[in-house]
Amino acid sequence: MWGIYSALKAAFKQKRKCPRCGHIQLVDIAHKNKSKKCSKCGENIPVPKTQI
Ligand SMILES: [Zn+2]
Repeated sequence: MWGIYSALKAAFKQKRKCPRCGHIQLVDIAHKNKSKKCSKCGENIPVPKTQI
């Protein structure tokens, strides 16, 4: 049950790579059109032009 739930949850996340440190940041799909700060270095990760 939990496996299905986490798989569903992952489907609503978008992977975004930090341009500075290369850290993969998971961004909630609800915020996919907003820039996100990297949790590792604090760099602003811009919205990707193409969907991953
Ligand atoms: Zn970073």
